[in-house]
Amino acid sequence: MTSPLAPGSTIGILGGGQLGRMSALAAARLGYRCHVYAPEADSPGMQVAAARSVAGYEDAAALSAFAAAVDVVTFEFENVPAATLDILAPLVPCRPGVEALRIGQDRLLEKRFFDSAGLPVGPWREVASRADLEAAVAALGLPAVLKTTRLGYDGRGQAVLRAPEDLDPAWERLAPRPLILEAFIPFEREISAIAARGADGAVVTFDATENRHHHHILDLSIAPAQVPAEVASAARAHVARLADGLGLVGLLALEMFLLPDGRLLANEMAPRPHNSGHWTMDACLCGQFEMHVRAVAGLPLPDPARHHDAVMKNLVGPESYARWPDLAAQPGVALHLYGKSEARDGRKLGHATRLLAKGSLASAGDPAALAPV
Ligand code: AMP
Repeated sequence: MTSPLAPGSTIGILGGGQLGRMSALAAARLGYRCHVYAPEADSPGMQVAAARSVAGYEDAAALSAFAAAVDVVTFEFENVPAATLDILAPLVPCRPGVEALRIGQDRLLEKRFFDSAGLPVGPWREVASRADLEAAVAALGLPAVLKTTRLGYDGRGQAVLRAPEDLDPAWERLAPRPLILEAFIPFEREISAIAARGADGAVVTFDATENRHHHHILDLSIAPAQVPAEVASAARAHVARLADGLGLVGLLALEMFLLPDGRLLANEMAPRPHNSGHWTMDACLCGQFEMHVRAVAGLPLPDPARHHDAVMKNLVGPESYARWPDLAAQPGVALHLYGKSEARDGRKLGHATRLLAKGSLASAGDPAALAPV
């Protein structure tokens, strides 16, 4: 695929969650049709799609039919089974690309890739056996964080080890193996940055964002991160370097720890739109979902040009979601709801972003006080 996709073309999206939904909405604005492929019929993405395949990720016949019906395929989650990619990739252009997905779904490959790209990372060890765990703890000390290398998200698949007696239960509980042990990083803040890389290799980055979590789930994003200018530009440079190194076509989000001495350590990456970039939909001329669609469709990538400061609040679980009528009534707040049929605890059901005059966060005190509630 060398020339940009013409309006009216069809973008295939694998996955039916909110990231696919918001990508499909951005694609529709540019005149594209989206065909969503997911196992669940009434998923957030399906609700806004022009065409749908309700089928499993390893259903070869359904995947082949999907590939034949679309002009390009993208993914709204990184844990795409290898078998799925093996079927799709020979049939249709897949973006961000097989390599980016392969590395993004495995913490060990990710850490090695950060190292090879020259990004600073905290100390870590691969843990394939109980003896490895003993040795890793001896090397890194306690506290430390033991994580699965695959299929972990929102704090699932990890355990903080504080004392020797924490090793056995964590080793028994965490699967699949191998695991990874990371030194516990006494970070001051968590920062993320998102890059988009186009089919022509051009890279743009969004402003660095500060993220605050509640029960391991993103609660607030503050943009731009209120950090020294050199920290913010280092965060953007790190993610741009990774996007280039992966040669991906699409978006790459990088989560980092900011240490008290101003250094950044890379933690985790995701080759897709990211929750910490939701503020860009309302505070930038071209938000992350449009940027994703543009990259996937081979369109030029504009400067994201943030025109407001922003504080994004995730609506997680029924209690938070129940506030939607108030949020819908607040001036200066952009509300996004994902159409999920069940408002379960711990589920991301929507988000709300308060827009503030550009530059005003710097003198606004604690940005958390400005979160839409
Ligand atoms: P992750 O799934 O790697 O993004 O981890 C989820 C959250 O756990 C992070 O956002 C941090 O708040 C915390 N965390 C993860 N790894 C570490 C670490 N090595 N040291 C301290 N906190 C961590």
